Amino acid sequence: MKTYGALEAGGTKMVMSILDDSGKICEREVIPTRTPDETIPDMIRFFSERSIHSLGIGCFGPLDLNPSSENFGMITRTPKLAWRNTPILRIFQDSLQIPVGLDTDVNAAALAESVLGAARGLSSCLYVTVGTGVGGGLIIHHQPVHGLVHPELGHQLILPEKDDPCPEGFCPSHRSCLEGLASGPAMEKRWHVSARDLPHDHPGWRMEVSYLAQMCHNAIMSFSPEKIILGGGVMQQTFLYPLIRKKTLELLGGYVASPCVDEGLENYIVPPGLDIHSGVMGSYLLARRACEKSD
Ligand code: ADP
Ligand code: ZN
Repeated sequence: MKTYGALEAGGTKMVMSILDDSGKICEREVIPTRTPDETIPDMIRFFSERSIHSLGIGCFGPLDLNPSSENFGMITRTPKLAWRNTPILRIFQDSLQIPVGLDTDVNAAALAESVLGAARGLSSCLYVTVGTGVGGGLIIHHQPVHGLVHPELGHQLILPEKDDPCPEGFCPSHRSCLEGLASGPAMEKRWHVSARDLPHDHPGWRMEVSYLAQMCHNAIMSFSPEKIILGGGVMQQTFLYPLIRKKTLELLGGYVASPCVDEGLENYIVPPGLDIHSGVMGSYLLARRACEKSD
């Protein structure tokens, strides 16, 4: 039986898993994300001590995913300065000498949702995580979308609500982009209380709903995905789903002719089908794809 390595490379922690052919997680280890010099040797050790056939990495970005670029497989302009220009793909390929698949953490999660989760059977979907940051992974024709670089849905510009006390937002690069207005930390900075503890009737949630609905509207108009999956810590507040559907419908203004819209987006804007496992399963699928490619 073949086994595969799955690495969820995050800004705060690295989650390393070993999965078998059936997709069962056999082993899992979590280490904090320190500098590359401190963290990478530990990860190489973990994976090299297990006889895996290939490795999949879902990594925080931005990444260079253009195969014809000389920086292919490199972490590029990340705000985590120690990780800038880390050739993460090459490091793992050279050290482990096995096929390695790399994509953004959100593209990996979107891939998992499209193959195994809420968008199973569809050829397109958008996966958005609303957590410490806001990021979106896009699958079109069963493939994660890459282009100039890769989509950065979390940094799309959003119209702030009129009564938002911090309409300028908190993104160091774009101020009032989606992440700058709607991430967990943006909510906490604005209301001086964790999103976790904000009462359901607090006006902050109305603003959050507006920002996420604007994103859904923009995504529907831009890419027409067959499903939008919203995950991440903030979406643990499940009362948000019906409110986001309602607001998105309002913003669409009857323009999009589709049964999904006519039904009220009930089965269209949904939580992840894989619960919190989209990330690990996405990295696993990247590993499997890398293995198949090399056969
Ligand atoms: P990360 O984005 O770091 O991978 P999460 O998706 O869990 O991790 O996001 C963490 C953020 O989500 C925190 O900023 C926190 O404010 C918010 N968060 C976590 N749990 C909840 C919750 N139950 N309700 C609302 N917000 C939450
Ligand atoms: Zn931004």
